[in-house]
Amino acid sequence: MNFADLGLSDETLRAVTEAGYTEPTPVQAAAIQPVLMMRDLIAIAQTGTGKTASFVLPMIDILAHGRARARMPRSLILEPTRELAAQVAENFEKYGQYHKLSMALLIGGVNMSDQVAALEKGVDVLIATPGRLMDLFQRGKILLTGCSLLVIDEADRMLDMGFIPDIEEICTKLPASRQTLLFSATMPPPIKKLADKFLNNPKQIEVARTGSTNDSIEQALVETTSRGKRETLRGLLRAEDVKTAIIFANRKTTVRELNQSLQRNGFASGEIHGDMEQSARIKELDRFKAGAINILVASDVAARGLDIKGVSHVFNYDAPWHPDDYVHRIGRTGRAGATGKAFTLITAEDAENIANIEKLTSQKIPRITGAAKAPTEDAAEPTIDAGSVRDAEAGGDERVAKPRRRRGGERAAKPEAAPERAAKPERAAPPPREASETPAPRPVAPQRAPARAPEPVAEPIAADADINWNGPVPAFLSARIPD
Ligand code: ADP
Ligand code: MG
Repeated sequence: MNFADLGLSDETLRAVTEAGYTEPTPVQAAAIQPVLMMRDLIAIAQTGTGKTASFVLPMIDILAHGRARARMPRSLILEPTRELAAQVAENFEKYGQYHKLSMALLIGGVNMSDQVAALEKGVDVLIATPGRLMDLFQRGKILLTGCSLLVIDEADRMLDMGFIPDIEEICTKLPASRQTLLFSATMPPPIKKLADKFLNNPKQIEVARTGSTNDSIEQALVETTSRGKRETLRGLLRAEDVKTAIIFANRKTTVRELNQSLQRNGFASGEIHGDMEQSARIKELDRFKAGAINILVASDVAARGLDIKGVSHVFNYDAPWHPDDYVHRIGRTGRAGATGKAFTLITAEDAENIANIEKLTSQKIPRITGAAKAPTEDAAEPTIDAGSVRDAEAGGDERVAKPRRRRGGERAAKPEAAPERAAKPERAAPPPREASETPAPRPVAPQRAPARAPEPVAEPIAADADINWNGPVPAFLSARIPD
């Protein structure tokens, strides 16, 4: 299948070629034609399968004809996080460069005056997070009656973040005759219900079976103890040919402490979690992207929707509480034909989580015993590993706080919980709670040589935009709302 066979305009094809895409991904190959034919669409495909271009490209051609009217956006794209929204905007800029489409971006943490001015004039494409959109709608700044195309992107993440009621309300404000496209990595019942209610005879595309993990990811469970986790992790980091890694932890305190411990041990690591100021997160992402660090310790919320390809390793420092988080986490590696490795540290308490993961993914994950057998000194840490003690305590908290997934998506007890409603945190100054995108990393050698098995200087991944982050994080994202 070739992009030229999909019915896209010459201008759009030219922009695609210049972006360096040679072949449509399966979801693009299946989605673009029905979208151009104005069908409603449900596309279910894992993160990283190219869903963005599967709606952006045909939308550019659909919107090429016709003119925008004041305050009446012609199309609306809903995204769960500001970073994903910004990424979609960048896609429109990239692929729409030979078209004259106008665009506005309504996201939290950004000075709105320019965007509102653009809306007043009229835009072809409005990209928004639901909370911010509702806010402006209620203030009478937008009319959705002229909006003939709606995209609900990352629907399962919208669900996790409690946005479904907002989306339902938004749907009722659009003309009934519109075209609606829904994209999701999974299809949990509330999303199915939403689709049944608001889509009209949709074409359904399913690229990977829901909950399936990528075959090109080598997975292993590493048995350890709460106290031994850090050492086990360090052992793995040293034994494995780790070029770039994301290490997931369930709690933001663990993210912070683990990052500090890794740094003390000479690893070039950084951290992102939902409590960080947005500017700090962006800075950290830039460091990862530029190769100043090759290890990123992350929480699920901060990592949600990460567009990283070519990460050599994913480590689950904590087994995820929710099995679908496992699929999302390890999906950071093993993309685009490259083989990746995903290690999950497990303790005796994780039996149930692991059973759920194995059930969801219909696989038995091989088990290995903790790599770090011989005690390696935790450099510059006290003889009594205070960190491990803290972790052990944290483990206790986790057991107490272990959340159950609630409807509407608030993961109540989970410390690094998804924002209850992005609308509120978006308005509040600190801290930004929305999930974070990240640029793709380039590997570097650890800052200090590890205690043994010196790490070879890793080959940087080619600075090819297509295997990496879609583009720079727009500077305006660091701006704060004036109030
Ligand atoms: P999803 O929304 O499914 O998670 P994205 O749309 O964010 O995935 O795309 C993931 C990555 O794949 C991006 O870096 C994007 O640039 C890249 N990509 C998308 N389509 C293609 C293609 N046809 N060829 C090569 N890379 C692609
Ligand atoms: Mg996407």
